[in-house]
Amino acid sequence: MATSTGTARQHTDEATRLWQSVLDYLKVGISREGFETWLEPTRGLQLSGKTLEVAVPNPFFADWISQRYATDIRAALRAVVGDGYDFSLCVPATQGRSAAPSWREPAPRPTSRTETNRLQPRYTFDSFVVGESNRLAAAAARSVAERPAASYNPLFIYGGVGLGKTHLMQAIGNLTISLRPNLRVYYTAAENLFIELIQAIERNTRLEFKNKYRGLDLLLLDDIHYLIGKERLQEEVFYIFNNLHDGGSQIVFTSDRPPQDIPTLESRLASRLGSGLVVDIQPPDVETRVAILTRKAALDNIVLPEDVAFFIASHFRRSVRELEGSLNRLLAHASLEGRPLTVETAAEALRDLVREEEPIDAKTIIAACAESFGVTVADIVGQSRTKQIVLARQAAMYIIRARLNLSLNEIGFHFGGRDHTTVMHAIEKMLRLRAEDPLMRSTIDRLQERISSGQRG
Ligand code: ADP
Ligand code: MG
Repeated sequence: MATSTGTARQHTDEATRLWQSVLDYLKVGISREGFETWLEPTRGLQLSGKTLEVAVPNPFFADWISQRYATDIRAALRAVVGDGYDFSLCVPATQGRSAAPSWREPAPRPTSRTETNRLQPRYTFDSFVVGESNRLAAAAARSVAERPAASYNPLFIYGGVGLGKTHLMQAIGNLTISLRPNLRVYYTAAENLFIELIQAIERNTRLEFKNKYRGLDLLLLDDIHYLIGKERLQEEVFYIFNNLHDGGSQIVFTSDRPPQDIPTLESRLASRLGSGLVVDIQPPDVETRVAILTRKAALDNIVLPEDVAFFIASHFRRSVRELEGSLNRLLAHASLEGRPLTVETAAEALRDLVREEEPIDAKTIIAACAESFGVTVADIVGQSRTKQIVLARQAAMYIIRARLNLSLNEIGFHFGGRDHTTVMHAIEKMLRLRAEDPLMRSTIDRLQERISSGQRG
């Protein structure tokens, strides 16, 4: 584990990591546009005492950031490492470019192959931890990369935010290219496609726009749920899709919801989706979360003690992005304050995040289920056998079990003293329904997400 008395290299790592934690922290409170425009292109350079030197692309950034975001940044520093830290902004000299961090240019001009296909090399199958929650998706993705257009076409991957959809999708691209370097692969998010389309319309370059997508061997189209409500964009996407599909090219989509929840997509692509495969990614179970944390730490040459990994894993269940953020924050904190990597340090570094997790209890979950199924809390804990009420009750039992780790008897207690066999039966039924009925599954998943995000206010 690096300490603040380490080498210059360690100092740089510390600064990078600390700034990354500050950015993770800020991301939640700042508009996405503001964040992406002004903060994302910055890098932690080095620590001089308790001052973090941050590199910005040009003096204009420095002015803007100090005027708009200085207070937020100081607050984030305090939350991440404690009192006494400050930051300064600098513009690294251009000739020192090789030593300076690499900027993410606002509009990268394609120069290297990597930039042309927009794949990030770090998203590979090797760096993707496979567990129950993503096993099928990972297997399907690998199969598509090994045999594009011959196994599942299109492949449709859906799941909640931060669960690894983009990672897996890019891994397909990276593996495809390494197996068959002359295939034309292109990754884009639906939102970028939208921006491209608007520009093409404004500049009257629709033909170029269409041609760009014609002739690809593999199109990776991320976050397709963005199409909802954008008729014009949908037209273009269907056109591109049909063209590629007819020409025998492979297409992969990701989305935060299953295809049937994107009605126009479902109806227009129905026949084609039939020749493809729809797979989901679920939030990782605790073993997978521990494995992900251990793997991420190992990439930084840090051995993360198992109890610490377990501590983080048990407090952050919803997304892998959140797991990574917590780990980054812990490592920055431990390293800067010269603290050992223990559960105590983790609790301290993550205190504000961990505390917010506590308020979830059985009552909160029952209330959320009542609302989602259109019944009352009294219905759920009462005796009615009406179908909708029974479903709501069973869903609540299932979520409580998944979320709170109470015994079956304890769960029964919250439902007017039902016994453990009733609870067991409810959980089994929900497991079966989730497996058999995609709509039920997405209802439950979204409910679980809502319950988790509810606690963040
Ligand atoms: P999504 O696109 O579903 O919102 P991302 O693919 O952006 O999620 O993943 C968020 C972060 O979590 C990324 O840094 C990604 O590398 C990491 N991640 C997600 N799932 C895994 C996994 N199974 N193994 C390792 N890292 C993962
Ligand atoms: Mg994504």
